[in-house]
Amino acid sequence: MTANQQQFYKIEKNQVTNFEAIVIGAGFSGLYMLNRLREAGFSVRVYEKGNGVGGAWYWSRYPGARCDSESIYYNYTFSEELYKEWTWSSRYPEQAEILRYLNFVADRLDLRQDIQFNTEIKAAHYDETHNLWRIDLNDGTCVSAKYFITGVGCLSVNATNVPAIKGLDRFEGKWYHTGAWPHEKIDFKGKRVGVIGTGSSGVQAIPVIAQKAEHLTVFQRTPQYTIPARNRPLDLEFIEKTKENYSEIRRQMHESFGGFPGNRGDRSALEEPPENRQSVYEAAWEAGGLAIRSTYKDIMTNEAANNTVSDFLRSKIREIVQDPEVHGKLMPTYFFATKRPVLDTNYFETYNRKNVTLVDLRKSPIEEITPKGLRTTEAEYELDFLVFATGYDGVTGPLFKIDIRGKDGLSLKEKWEDGALVKTYLGLSTAGFPNFFIITGPESPSVLSNVPVAIEQHVEWIGDCIQYLHDHGVETIEAKAEAEEAWSKHCKEVADSTLYTKTDSWLTGANIADKPRGFPIYIGGIGQYRQIIDEIAAKGYEGFSLVTHQKTKSYQ
Ligand code: NAP
Repeated sequence: MTANQQQFYKIEKNQVTNFEAIVIGAGFSGLYMLNRLREAGFSVRVYEKGNGVGGAWYWSRYPGARCDSESIYYNYTFSEELYKEWTWSSRYPEQAEILRYLNFVADRLDLRQDIQFNTEIKAAHYDETHNLWRIDLNDGTCVSAKYFITGVGCLSVNATNVPAIKGLDRFEGKWYHTGAWPHEKIDFKGKRVGVIGTGSSGVQAIPVIAQKAEHLTVFQRTPQYTIPARNRPLDLEFIEKTKENYSEIRRQMHESFGGFPGNRGDRSALEEPPENRQSVYEAAWEAGGLAIRSTYKDIMTNEAANNTVSDFLRSKIREIVQDPEVHGKLMPTYFFATKRPVLDTNYFETYNRKNVTLVDLRKSPIEEITPKGLRTTEAEYELDFLVFATGYDGVTGPLFKIDIRGKDGLSLKEKWEDGALVKTYLGLSTAGFPNFFIITGPESPSVLSNVPVAIEQHVEWIGDCIQYLHDHGVETIEAKAEAEEAWSKHCKEVADSTLYTKTDSWLTGANIADKPRGFPIYIGGIGQYRQIIDEIAAKGYEGFSLVTHQKTKSYQ
């Protein structure tokens, strides 16, 4: 520990206002970032809006909330002890269990002492004179740090999308957004409930609400492909084996394409005889989970190949949903998995229930919310509860909720929205914003991978980088404009070589009115990405400006 760091620790914790690093968010990202930097001897403070750890999993308590990554891969892998001490109960972890896991991690690593809960960062401005980030909190306090790190994720409670539908303020029932769900239990028994939205959240909530509600009306704009999760309890033998294979599983996750062991198939769907292909898809459907997307190498890059799996999935909807009129409304037409793919438990089966009505908003759009319910161009539906499963202003939204300003007062929002869209270097930093790091931000694998793996990549890289800067007496690190130009171009080229950009989704920004369109995710694969960022670090942080002897005044 340096003399400088010791000085921080000498001061009473609640009086400290200047840290080496400030991190926003106590979810997967913030917890690991805190641990990593603290272990290296740096003073760190995490600010968290919630009253507990968990990030998105703290807020998303809607009925049926569960993760689409298998539990044994949806955890940290940086510590063998942590990995082996925790035991998941089922194949896909439910929200409450993930929250318990993150609380276990926070306790086990004694992280809470450096987290300030119930606190929001409102603004973070880079002070060039003192080479510090000045950070304004919602309680009026100002703190500062040399490094400012965001762990807000791509989907945040601060950036939920509640569509501006006329009349919501006059609704006499209760309404909720899935991503900001109340902590007390909502009793749907005997109630008339409406759900708007059929993305991951809606698809999970709809079957669970349908079991309780007197009547459920689903307001669907875009029909959805979903694959059965085939969730089940995990048996002890399987868990033991997984723990024994910890090192190999970690290696495979980190070197893989998507953050799970196993890579994409190496054959084209189009070279396969149709009957074999059908068997492959049937087997993947029976196994459940997201593996069907990886059965052939060209599902995400070739329209005809994608059509083979999309046709298969549409045939499953026809098989499950008995009423032809209803399954007609449920038929998706976009290229499978170009919206973030979804797993379900009894989603399509739910439309066979007598207490469920499906409203096709493409045929009869919403006109307004009335005091008694919701009116489309065709009918009014009386409701006691209205659930917005309408998603988020994703990727950039959580960052734009904070007034982040770099050199010369340049605002991140202005920089990225000024017709130029997002520009980052490696998805980790952006020119004009020295000593600023983004965990799983735009132009990194983030949401199109198994997110904890993406987080570990970033936290480890940032931690190593800060250590390097410290060891080499570097005062500032900043992405070079030409390096970020090249990275953004590369991300776009990779995305354009796939089918992702052919579909409107929250990934392209299409769900938010007036949001500039793009595809700010690096989809070259998580293993490949790690190689790239590690090579850049090994070359002394190529593409970054490192300033060693900047004249900085000390900040009192
Ligand atoms: P989402 O995928 O963006 O889905 C939002 C849904 O609301 C879509 O069906 C959308 O229709 C509809 N919608 C939005 N605005 C509307 C409007 N004005 N009128 C009518 N319908 C409207 O949001 P989400 O389901 O919350 O999921 C977001 C992301 O969170 C997921 O993709 C995933 O990354 C993550 N997530 C993961 C899990 C999990 O792991 N199981 C669970 C929940 C969330 P359009 O498609 O027509 O826009």
